[in-house]
Amino acid sequence: MTFDIVTIFPAMIEQPLAAGIIGRAIERGTLDVKVRDLRDFTTDRHRVVDDVPYGGGPGMVLKADPIFRALDAIEAERGGPLTVILTSPQGRRFTQAEAQRLSGAAQIVLLCGRYEGFDDRVRERVTEELSIGDYVLTGGELAALVVLDAVARFVPGVVGDEQSVAEDSFSRGLLDFPQYTRPAEIEIDGDTATAVAEGQRVLKVPDVLLSGNHAEIRRWRKREALSRTLDRRPDLLDDAVLDEEELSLLQELKGARDGRD
Ligand code: SAH
Repeated sequence: MTFDIVTIFPAMIEQPLAAGIIGRAIERGTLDVKVRDLRDFTTDRHRVVDDVPYGGGPGMVLKADPIFRALDAIEAERGGPLTVILTSPQGRRFTQAEAQRLSGAAQIVLLCGRYEGFDDRVRERVTEELSIGDYVLTGGELAALVVLDAVARFVPGVVGDEQSVAEDSFSRGLLDFPQYTRPAEIEIDGDTATAVAEGQRVLKVPDVLLSGNHAEIRRWRKREALSRTLDRRPDLLDDAVLDEEELSLLQELKGARDGRD
């Protein structure tokens, strides 16, 4: 899968992409990522990418023609049809489902805005406009990295264990269950921890996880995932795909909560 990221701050993209799972996927060639400096697609001596807004007002606007030239160059180099994503707070909200859907695209271009955003005519060449959340960033670079990272996790071969992607929060409409690793008991020495306030001196891993009983562990994890989702994000349960065991666990959890209120 290919990604082309068009930005006026290439360093903001290059460094984060070099680390971790994404860095390794690029090294192996599973992902082909190119960062394009928008200034390379200007034609004037000063490499100007922005201009004042028509109609007046504060701030600067990114010119459309360097973006068009960048897209022409990427199209010529990549060959196939491009999925061109405009990062924008006005876009559709980016979600895990969107990430999965976009992982089916062969060639993605991410356009990073700055200042007041783009000349609106760039939309002529845009396939999708995506927002990473209801807040305004100073530029599209962080948004492009978020989209690339979340999409890339669905590309076969990027995350070593496909099962872990399938079990992640949101993938089935539920939040993930809690995880623990060694040691099984952690002594608390400070007196600021909430556990101490509750009279605990050691933090323990839930017994069931040490039991070796895989059926019990599976059931506990289902229950915890449901319980967390019910407490933190009940809205997700409306669209969650649950099996029979989960449906009955959910009924139980809801019953217990009703009893508690
Ligand atoms: N005046 C514009 C905001 C410009 S912010 C408006 O109100 O719509 C500058 C750039 O940051 C945008 O062009 C976009 O590329 C990026 N950006 C800001 N907030 C974003 C968000 N929530 N999601 C994705 N990109 C965002």
